[in-house]
Amino acid sequence: MNDHPTESMSAYLDEELDKEERMRIDRHLLQCEICRGLLADLMDMRSQVADFYGHLEAPPDLELKVLASLERKAAATTIHASSVAVPLVGLAALAVLACLYGATFFKLFSIVLQFVLTAAYVISNVASSIPGVWGSVLVLSAGIFVVSGLSLRRILRSAAH
Ligand SMILES: [Zn+2]
Repeated sequence: MNDHPTESMSAYLDEELDKEERMRIDRHLLQCEICRGLLADLMDMRSQVADFYGHLEAPPDLELKVLASLERKAAATTIHASSVAVPLVGLAALAVLACLYGATFFKLFSIVLQFVLTAAYVISNVASSIPGVWGSVLVLSAGIFVVSGLSLRRILRSAAH
């Protein structure tokens, strides 16, 4: 039971699979609690997203306001626009990943966060400390990096079948 169809789950939910593939996943779901959980998470997340957007209603003058603010922005600096766009694209990518991979994504995200924090910690220490302390921090950080890398690999392996 290690052949989890995790990558087809989203398409399964959207009824985009052919009959054969769909039946294969049906059979798998009957005997695999992990994938049933994954499917439930996926459905949960979708209904939450649908609920959220279902309650949103655009004000009638939204388009005019957006156009007016775009014109103002264009008249100001273009650098500012791109510095807003980059994190927005990042957030959108995170949201898409979250929808596709659910629980696995959050595990991955926490590990990536660990990486970033470790890196920040190392850099701040490198910038301002005594060589002796510095070395031990470096060794400790390398240890954390290795452990994070190993668990990242384990999660990736369990996510891909
Ligand atoms: Zn499974």
